[in-house]
Amino acid sequence: MSAPRPVGLGRPRPAALAVPCPHCHATTGAPCTIPATGGRLTDPHPSRIEQQERAA
Ligand SMILES: [Zn+2]
Repeated sequence: MSAPRPVGLGRPRPAALAVPCPHCHATTGAPCTIPATGGRLTDPHPSRIEQQERAA
């Protein structure tokens, strides 16, 4: 069972970077960070994605 998967689905949405993160306070266009360590996250915080989808 290996149905072809359309490109662009099932990936993190980089559009979330269009809004500031309410969780870690990353600025617009900046990747999310872990406030405690300052480390960068590969994926935006879920709350940031939610924020972006709400703003869209
Ligand atoms: Zn964040």
